[in-house]
Amino acid sequence: MLRFCSLGSGSSGNATLVEARSGTTASRVLVDCGFTQRELKARLARADLAPDDIDAVFVTHEHGDHIGCAVGWARRHQIPLWMSRGTWRAVGEPDLGDLLHFARDGEGIAVGDLLLAPYTVPHDAQEPLQLCFSDGGLRLGVLTDAGSITDHLLDQLQRCDALLLECNHDRAMLAGSRYPPSLRSRIGGRYGHLSNDTAAQILASCLHGGLRHVVAAHLSRENNRPELALAALASASGANACELLAAGPQWGFDWIEMR
Ligand SMILES: [Zn+2]
Ligand SMILES: [Zn+2]
Repeated sequence: MLRFCSLGSGSSGNATLVEARSGTTASRVLVDCGFTQRELKARLARADLAPDDIDAVFVTHEHGDHIGCAVGWARRHQIPLWMSRGTWRAVGEPDLGDLLHFARDGEGIAVGDLLLAPYTVPHDAQEPLQLCFSDGGLRLGVLTDAGSITDHLLDQLQRCDALLLECNHDRAMLAGSRYPPSLRSRIGGRYGHLSNDTAAQILASCLHGGLRHVVAAHLSRENNRPELALAALASASGANACELLAAGPQWGFDWIEMR
């Protein structure tokens, strides 16, 4: 069984938990640590977990809402930390000894019963990676912090049973926002963040009968509303019976069980 939840989703902090369970054993990976250590510990407790329950941390890129406390957290709790070499360089090449593992596009990672497949995305970071997870049967695709669609990312997200998909902004709201023009063009640019419309295009390209759960993630508090993100995803999902949900920027979302 595979399940996932979010401890927070958006520019004020991201952390996603993915768990594979077989019998009495569970394998858990925390994707991103975009909070202080104290805050992350409190948020883990809300998901009924303690720091020692996490088997590995994977950091997608060096932006503060993702890397957050990851280095200090890995040291304090002696948890293996995965990131790309580019992300590691971007944060000053911290010495983590045996805890540090480098992730690369196309090289699978096994953490207990969880299989991770990192893939490259277009985003304004040094070597950003996003992920697909599998327990050998079910597949979860994770995509946030990408500015545009590539054939590569569409390839990675095929045949997923659940998708966590960035719906950062509504294009019209971003265009009319009080953000300075340079920030608006960064967010809406090729290496920025996914709009609701672009997320809907991705969903339409990955749609199949087995896709059961789609979660809109990393919503901007300023330039989006959950109902707009969900409407865009609903129009793309058409008659497919997938369950749509929008992650809250403050608390993310509760466990979603995949079967
Ligand atoms: Zn982000
Ligand atoms: Zn980012």
